[in-house]
Amino acid sequence: MRKIIVAGNWKMNGSTLLTKKIIIGTMARLWDVNFSENFEVVFIPPFIYIPIASDLVKDSKYEIGAQNMYFEEKGAFTGEIAPDMLKDFDVKYVVIGHSERRHIFGESNETIAKKVKKAVEKELIPILCVGETLEEREEGRTWDVIREQLETALSQFDTLPGMVIAYEPVWAIGTGKAATKEDAEDVISKIRNWLKEKFGTDEVSILYGGSVKPANVENFASSKEIDGALVGGASLKPEDFAIIVKTFVGRG
Ligand code: PEP
Repeated sequence: MRKIIVAGNWKMNGSTLLTKKIIIGTMARLWDVNFSENFEVVFIPPFIYIPIASDLVKDSKYEIGAQNMYFEEKGAFTGEIAPDMLKDFDVKYVVIGHSERRHIFGESNETIAKKVKKAVEKELIPILCVGETLEEREEGRTWDVIREQLETALSQFDTLPGMVIAYEPVWAIGTGKAATKEDAEDVISKIRNWLKEKFGTDEVSILYGGSVKPANVENFASSKEIDGALVGGASLKPEDFAIIVKTFVGRG
């Protein structure tokens, strides 16, 4: 059965105080909400706030994710974070291939493939982000771009590892212009069919991400194709993030 996952990617935002405000504020707003076994809420702070975040969610129904990781174990890689370091602080999920990593920091599909492989080896659950730019969409290349992202990232696996995929159209991230339910469903069902053909399974959660907020979350939560949301900006406001979580709760 596919999990429903609502994950908040804080990007490069936060402070000690904001980490506490977001996590405690979200928990307080959801204290009386029952999450089923099949439902997960994940906070994804910047690396430096992971230890605080991890302490705050200890023994709770919430999980912690990281925004990135490197694919080597250790060594002379100044500025990078190794998977074991994340595991040291009970991180469960790791975002790999976020469009900001691809487009601002030049991460290639090949680099992303190495990260996915290492994350799986280390028993971290990758949240693999895929998505097209506006130009690629306008040229009618959306599916070609996403298929290539998937093919490269997953080329080293014969069976599909435990992972999550997030469809995040680049033009919808941080722009306030979310995809329509139909556009999101169209791409997500293509991803699901591709996974089924290649790996013989459709038991993978596929999230939508890109300007999800309280005003539009119902569009996505009401779709049986969409297994949750990767939320950026709105995850910094506990009042908004809690509404987004609640909207998906019925699905879990
Ligand atoms: C993201 O960072 O993955 C994201 C979807 O951002 P936003 O919700 O702000 O568009």
